[in-house]
Amino acid sequence: MTAIKTALKTHFGFESFRSQKQEDAVKAVVKGDRDVFVCMPTGSGKSLCYQLPAMLAKGITLVISPLIALIQDQVEHLRDLNIPACSINSKLPVEDRRLIMADLESESPKLKLLYVTPEMVASPGFKPCLTGLLSRSLLSYLAVDEAHCVSQWGHDFRPDYLKLGELRSSLPGVPCIALTATAPQRVKDDIAKSLRLRLPLSFATPVFRSNLHYDVVYRELLEDPYRHLHTYIRENLRLGDGPKGQGCGIVYCRTRECCETVAYQLTKLGVLAKPYHAGLKAVDRTEAQTDWMQGKVLVIVATISFGMGVDKANVRFVAHWNVAKSLASYYQESGRAGRDGLPSSCRTYYSPRDKEQLNFLIRKEVARKQAKRGSEKEQDKSSIKDFEAMVSFCEQESCRHATISNFFGDQKPDCGSACDYCQDPKAVRAQLEKAATLSTK
Ligand code: ADP
Ligand code: MG
Ligand code: ZN
Repeated sequence: MTAIKTALKTHFGFESFRSQKQEDAVKAVVKGDRDVFVCMPTGSGKSLCYQLPAMLAKGITLVISPLIALIQDQVEHLRDLNIPACSINSKLPVEDRRLIMADLESESPKLKLLYVTPEMVASPGFKPCLTGLLSRSLLSYLAVDEAHCVSQWGHDFRPDYLKLGELRSSLPGVPCIALTATAPQRVKDDIAKSLRLRLPLSFATPVFRSNLHYDVVYRELLEDPYRHLHTYIRENLRLGDGPKGQGCGIVYCRTRECCETVAYQLTKLGVLAKPYHAGLKAVDRTEAQTDWMQGKVLVIVATISFGMGVDKANVRFVAHWNVAKSLASYYQESGRAGRDGLPSSCRTYYSPRDKEQLNFLIRKEVARKQAKRGSEKEQDKSSIKDFEAMVSFCEQESCRHATISNFFGDQKPDCGSACDYCQDPKAVRAQLEKAATLSTK
C-alpha cells in the first residue's frame, strides 16, 4: 500500500477515496511542485485534498477559511480523528493562544493544521509567527478554502480575502491549494488571478447532477401558493405513504418576514416547518437547525444565511420561494438537495414582481457602492449579469440543466427528463404564455 493510502486509512479511517478526482487532487498536492485548484461540489470531500497531504508533510499547513464557525467545525472534526489541528482566532482565550504559539516556535511543532480567518492572517500579531515558520521551512502548504470569497463577495463580506494574494506572494516555494465549490468560469479566473496561483493544476467535477430535477413554477399563476408548496412538499417527502424517514427539505425565502409567514402557513397546513434567519435569537436559530438536522422538523424555511457548512445527505427538495440572486448562488443553494445521490427536486417559485423587486435592490446596492467609492467596478456589473442569468434560467424555454452547465463553462449535459422543459416543453411554454397575459393586465 502506498503512503497515501495508508494515511487515508490510519488518519481518516477511509478505505478508499471518495472519487477519482479526490485521489488525483491529493496526489497532485502531495507531489508539491505545483499550485492546485480544486473545484468540486460541496460535500464531495475537498478538505481531504489538503488535510491528507498535511499529514504526510513535515511542517504545518496553514488553512484560510472565511468563518470562525466553519473553522471550529473542521478543527473539532480533526481533533476527533486525533489529528493535531487548531485555530487562532479572536475568540481564543489568551492562555490557549500562548500554548499554540509556543508549539509553533518550538523546534518540531506537534501541530499539523493551523486554521485562521483572513482577518487573522492580515493582523500584525500573526506576521512574526508566519515568518518564523517560513524561515525554518516549516510551512508545508497554504490552503485557501472557500476561495470564491475572493471574487463573489470578497468586497462586501471579506475584504481581507483580497489580501491573500499578497500573502501567497510572500510565501514563495509554499504550494497553494485553492478550494471552492463549483464556480462560474469567470469566478475561477478571478480566483487564480487574485491568489496569484502559478500555473495551477485544476481538478473540477462537472456541474451536471442527473439526480436533481429542476423546475420553475410561476407563483402568481397559482390560486393558493402555500397549498401548492405544501402539496409539493408532501409529494417529495412522501408524507402520504406511511412511516417517517423520507428525508427533509429546505425552503429559501429572501426576507425574515417571509420565512416566518411561509413556516407558519406550512405548519398550519400540517407540515411542521421552522423559520431560520438572522432576526432570531442565536439559541432559537441553533435549535431550528438542530431540530432539522435530527429530523424532528422536516422543513426549514430559511434565508440564504442557512446552509453554509450544513452537510445533510437526505435533503429531498430545495424550494426557492423567492428567486435567487444569481444563477451561481442558485446552483449552490439548490445543490444541497440529493447529496445521497437519490432523486431530489429543486424548484423555484418564480414571480415577475419578485424579480422586479430584487432587480431594484441589486441595482440600488450597486449604485450605493459606486457612490461610496466614486467609481465603477467590474464586480458591480457581475452581480447584475449573474442575476440576469438567473432570470433567464426561469424565463427561458430551454433545458434548465443545460443553462446551468453553460453558465459554469461545461458542455451541454444529457438531461433526459431531469427538468420540466425536457419533460414537457409544451407545459413550460403554456405557463410562460399565461404569465405574459398576467403582466399585461
Ligand atoms: P467539501 O469541503 O467538499 O464540502 P468536506 O471536505 O467537508 O467536503 O467533506 C464532506 C464529507 O465527506 C466529510 O464528512 C468527510 O469526512 C467525508 N469524506 C471525505 N473524503 C472521504 C472519503 N474518501 N471517504 C468517505 N468519506 C469522505
Ligand atoms: Mg469545504
Ligand atoms: Zn432538461
